[in-house]
Parts: sequence; C-alpha cells; structure tokens
Amino acid sequence: MTAVQAKQDTFDSLSPTTDEVVGTYPVHTADDVTAAVARARDAARWWADLGFAGRAERLQRWKGVITRRAAQLAEVVHAETGKPHADAMLEIVLAIDHTAWAAKNAPKVLGRKRRSAGLLMSNHAASVEFQPLGVVGVIGPWNYPVFTPMGSIAYALAAGNAVVFKPSEYTPGVGKWLADSFAEVVPERPVFQLITGYGETGAALCRSGVDKLAFTGSPGTGKKIMAACAETLTPVLIEAGGKDALLVDADADLDAAADAAVWGGMSNAGQTCVGVERVYVHERVYDDFVAKVVKIAKDVRAGDDPEAKIGPITMPGQLKIIQRHIHDALARGGRALVGGKDAVGDKYVQPTVLVDVPEDSEAVREETFGPTLTIAKVTDMDEAITKANDTRYGLASTVFSKRRGVELAQRLRAGMTSVNSVISFAGIPSLPFGGVGESGFGRIHGPEGLKEFTRPKAIARQRFKAPLVLTTFSRTAKTDATVAKLITLLHGKRR
Ligand code: NAD
Repeated sequence: MTAVQAKQDTFDSLSPTTDEVVGTYPVHTADDVTAAVARARDAARWWADLGFAGRAERLQRWKGVITRRAAQLAEVVHAETGKPHADAMLEIVLAIDHTAWAAKNAPKVLGRKRRSAGLLMSNHAASVEFQPLGVVGVIGPWNYPVFTPMGSIAYALAAGNAVVFKPSEYTPGVGKWLADSFAEVVPERPVFQLITGYGETGAALCRSGVDKLAFTGSPGTGKKIMAACAETLTPVLIEAGGKDALLVDADADLDAAADAAVWGGMSNAGQTCVGVERVYVHERVYDDFVAKVVKIAKDVRAGDDPEAKIGPITMPGQLKIIQRHIHDALARGGRALVGGKDAVGDKYVQPTVLVDVPEDSEAVREETFGPTLTIAKVTDMDEAITKANDTRYGLASTVFSKRRGVELAQRLRAGMTSVNSVISFAGIPSLPFGGVGESGFGRIHGPEGLKEFTRPKAIARQRFKAPLVLTTFSRTAKTDATVAKLITLLHGKRR
C-alpha cells in the first residue's frame, strides 16, 4: 500500500495509520504551474507595494488565525502523517513563532541602511537595502509539513515576495490548509498559491522562471532540483537530510544527555531531519549513559493509541530502509539493546538502540529516518569530533559537556549545534537554519533567512562635488598623482 495513489489527474492523500483517503488533490501540470507563477508575478508587485508595515499587519493576522485554529491544523497533520497530536502542535507552535519573528523583524533586517562611503568616495552617501526577489517557489517534505516549509514561506513573504508552494504528495492537505488560511487574510491577490502533485509538478516549478527555488527534502531530490534549476539559472536553497551526531563528554549531565538522545532520535518516529542518529560517548561515562538511554527508550512505544509516544512511519518505502540499516548493523557485529531485528512492522517501527556498530555500516553512514540510535564509545572528545565530522552530511549536532560545550560545538562541521539541550536552535527564530555538505546550503530563519529571499540593492548618492573627481575623462594627471599619494599613505606602509 502506498500512502499516495495516483488516479488520472488527481491523487489521494492517505492516512498512514488507517489507509483511509484523507483528501483528493489535483496533479498540477507544467501549464498549471506556469499559470500560477504568472499570477504570482502580478501579486508579488502588489504585495511588495504594501511595504513592511502592510505586510507585517497581514502576516500577524495570519499568525493569529493559525494560532486560534491550531487544533484543526494539527488534526490535518495527524491525519496525513500519523504523528501524535502533541507533536503536530509542537511544530505548529514553532511555525507561529517564526512567522511572528519574520514579520516583526523584516523592516529592521531588510530596510535601507547607511554604509560608510570610504575615503575615495567620501562625498557620497552610501546605502543598502534588501529588495524582494519577486516570486519564490517552495517545495516541501512531509515529515514536518508545517514547520519546515513555513521556514521558507513566512520568511519569503515577510521579505516581500509572492510564494508558489508545492507540498509533499503525502501532505497536500496541510499545504491547502496553510494557503486557504492565508487567503482569508490576504484575499485581494494570489500572494501565496498552492500547487499539488508529485515530483514532476515540483520539477515544473523549478523550470517555471521563479526567482528562487527553496527546496526541503532528501539530498537525492536536491540534486535533481539543482539540475532543473540550472537550465534557467534559477538560484536554489537546499535544505536536505542529515546524519546528526550527539556527543557526550565525560563531565556531561548524563540524565539530560540520555533524555535528549532518546527524544532527539525517536520523537516523530525518528523522521526528523535534525534528529539524533549517532551518539559518541566518552569512555569514562559510556556504561552509565547507555544504561540510562536503554531505560528511557524502553518506555517509548510506537502505535496509534493515546499512550503511544510515537506514530507510524509516514512513507511506507522508508520501512525497508530502516530494516536494512538495523539488519546490516546486527549482521556486522552490532548489538540491539532495545528493539532490533523485529522492530520494523508493516506500519510502525519500535525504538531501537544499537551498540558496537561498525563505523562504515549503513546505520552509521546513511540517513535512517527511523526511531533508531547507534551509540559508540570514544577515548576522548577529539575522537568524538573526528567521527562526528566523518560524514558527507552536516545538518545539525548536539553536545553535552559542562566545561567545553561551546568549544566542541565550534569544531563540529554542521550548520547548527545545541549545547546541553537538543534541537533547541530550531525554536530560536533569530538563528539561521541550514546545513553544509550534502545537507544543503543557504539558510532559512533569522536575519539570514530573511536576506535569503532578497537581493541587496546598493545606492551611492553624491552629496556634493568632490575636489578630486575620479569618474571622468577630464581627470588630470595631478588628480591621479594626488590619489596615488593618498592611497600610498593609507595602505602602503610595510608592517
Ligand atoms: P523528497 O526529496 O522525497 O521530496 C521532497 C519534495 O520534493 C516533495 O514535495 C516531492 O514531491 C518533491 N520532488 C520529488 N522529486 C522531485 C523532482 N524531481 N523535482 C522537484 N521536486 C521533486 O523528501 P521527503 O521524503 O519528502 O522528505 C524527507 C527528507 O527531507 C529527508 O531526507 C529529511 O532529512 C529531509 N528534510 C530536511 C529538512 C531540513 O530542513 N534540512 C527538513 C525536513 C526534511
């Protein structure tokens, strides 16, 4: 059973828990996408003309609508992904906070600012402002169908762009809910449009002439997105997967670290791009830490009853990958202290804690995207850093250390690191979010996330005529000599 079934020109979104049809949506064609982008172009001008204050007022109203109807949106998220309501609420709460931050801070971050004009052009007033790009295409995944795309949508809108959004084929209903609620507060123009369908619809969006394409999904699809966008030199932002590590130093608070490892690795059934997948623990505290992890993980159960802490695997194809990683780890000498060989069912995966897994096995090297953890012993934190960084990914990471948390964080090759907490960076709107290596590039959230959806515009305004005019053919040899003297005085000193 696949979670999404195609009919001719529509597809069904199915509940991964019950296999029931949650909704039926159009498969938009390349022509539909082109038409949506053309409508967006006109809407973008109108939206940009509203200015920061006008847009902020609408975005704050939208935020209010989402907040007041959060339970309804959580129900749609639950129906399409199977995740527990409480988890759905958590991602909605974070998205609300980000929307508020983007709306409030856009004028400060993007508005016109004076810059120093320097010596040679000191008769000028120099300024920079960050102008909207126009139309931004957003392609989203299913695992956090509200929080993840809103990191692009809310920031792109706050920066003055129109948005055309293609949600995952597994969560079109969530996308529709977001677009419909936005249209309630911005009924005048199609500033935020929804298109639905499979990869082909997304590829059409890449080729549609949007001014930027913001993609969140797997690294493999990210490469296809870049190739499609290359045809029209459309800039891209890629938020892809990871194989995030958590490091436990000898002086760490082990209760907190174990709790973070289990929640970071298993919440949302491990289907978290910035979830913990690998753990490296100082040998002095390894046994204690592992015992604590096992105790906590044994209390976590996958199911659809209210007591279950995690839900199903949303995308059925992922079950095979998770099983392959676990079986490969066990076949190569790994041991399962929780879960293991039979953890993978036909919908649910029970928490699995693996130790003694070879570093070159799939469970350590590839994104598992299930409720599994590998835990390895290291002799010191240098070894932990080397092993954590030995990956082609580099999305997020976590450090538990009393004395050296920030120092270790600085040495981790990952876009974000939490110290003595887990995934906390995602809930801090002022911090940029994004990866390195095959985890992608570009940043959402924070000032960097606002600027990502703009182009800097430089303006140099002459305030008065300077005695030395450089930009004219009537420049004299005397002027050139004076400038040469000046520049030698300023920059020619031997150090
Ligand atoms: P996916 O790559 O399969 O799909 C993502 C989106 O791309 C979907 O909307 C899909 O329809 C679309 N798509 C597929 N083929 C396409 C093509 N050829 N051209 C254009 N669009 C195409 O990813 P997924 O399974 O939905 O999401 C899970 C992945 O996303 C994991 O790897 C996870 O780590 C990653 N992820 C990353 C972040 C982050 O912020 N870095 C956040 C959430 C998820």
